[in-house]
Amino acid sequence: MVNIETTSFEGHKALIRVDFNVPLNDQFQVTDNTRIRAAVPTILKIVEQGGSVILMSHLGRPKSGPEDQFSLRHIVSEVSTLLGREVKFANDCIGPVAEEAAANLKPGEVLLLENLRFYKEEEKGDVAFAEKLSKLGSIYVNDAFGTAHRAHASTAVIAQFFPQNKLFGYVMQGEIDAIDKVLKHPVRPFTAIMGGAKVSSKISIIENVLGKVNHLIVGGGMTFTFIKALGGKTGASLVEQEQLELALELLKKAESMGVQIHLPVDAIIADRFANDAQTKTVNIREIPDGWMGLDIGPETEKQFDAIIQSSGTLLWNGPMGVFEMSSFEHGTRSVGESIAQATAKGAYSLVGGGDSVAAVNQFGLAEQVSYVSTGGGALLEYMEGIELPGVAAIRS
Ligand code: AMP
Repeated sequence: MVNIETTSFEGHKALIRVDFNVPLNDQFQVTDNTRIRAAVPTILKIVEQGGSVILMSHLGRPKSGPEDQFSLRHIVSEVSTLLGREVKFANDCIGPVAEEAAANLKPGEVLLLENLRFYKEEEKGDVAFAEKLSKLGSIYVNDAFGTAHRAHASTAVIAQFFPQNKLFGYVMQGEIDAIDKVLKHPVRPFTAIMGGAKVSSKISIIENVLGKVNHLIVGGGMTFTFIKALGGKTGASLVEQEQLELALELLKKAESMGVQIHLPVDAIIADRFANDAQTKTVNIREIPDGWMGLDIGPETEKQFDAIIQSSGTLLWNGPMGVFEMSSFEHGTRSVGESIAQATAKGAYSLVGGGDSVAAVNQFGLAEQVSYVSTGGGALLEYMEGIELPGVAAIRS
């Protein structure tokens, strides 16, 4: 497989699939440029070596055909600023406009193509559309981990037209290396910390990690389905009745595999789902009627900290409580801080999946963990053990 570090891009026209699906405000200004910043090292590596770059991305969810609100021309100036060089724009991603703009590119120049999803063929993974895109470049770089779980024309299908000249960019490579380090070569003990609202949305991940971890810490709303299944009183907490049996099965399976599952022992409960609700700290198995558990309690924080500190590898997905409300953020913050401390002592920590990323950012801990995945859905599918089409297309 070709590697970005060892490839010479001189004279190449690199067709890079990036994830520039960034949020825009009413004036079509970029309000969070994280995804663009993430792609800068890959782009600069290529242009600084005398290659030229053709960027392709999607933006939003256009329904059928071009819609100005989803035009990538809105982000041209932001991309230019972040790259520190002019970025040209082609108001189509295939056909004569794109072909001429690509053909005229000189070494060191950067071209951004119009939104790929203005063509329905993109999401359908249409081979003819992928072939048209492929004509624009001489080498294909996939740097869009966020869409790696989709078999779209630009994320997977296109790779077949570059049998010798396809590779991952730094974003993709970084994500894959981090996940492989955790799932394939963990330093033990390996602890997964799973939280979030529901067991049902995390079952496949839990099942996949059970075969790999030594400890599984469970927190967040999904705790109460386990506690109820074990015969505890859960009051008005979030419980998925139809998952009770499965929760017991998971506990049994863990035991038979030698995995230690750690459930919270106490909870911060509230009389309403509101930041200014009345709160109490109680044993997690004794939640009174009408009260709901919205965070882990102080004894649980201590117990979880001890396991985290003794771990060599940590994988965190999902908050320990309703961290969006300040009254119920303490448990999530505490687990984040424990992970940061363990990382400072040499553990490898990967944080991923929407809300845990939001949490480490909220608590200013992003720089203190080993890797924060930007993957979202792609990361979750990878953690479930599914081979991502965007990854497979480059590796095959
Ligand atoms: P998920 O997307 O499944 O990771 O769930 C994240 C959401 O779970 C966050 O919005 C949290 O507010 C919510 N959550 C965490 N703990 C609880 C809880 N004890 N009760 C209700 N919701 C919770």
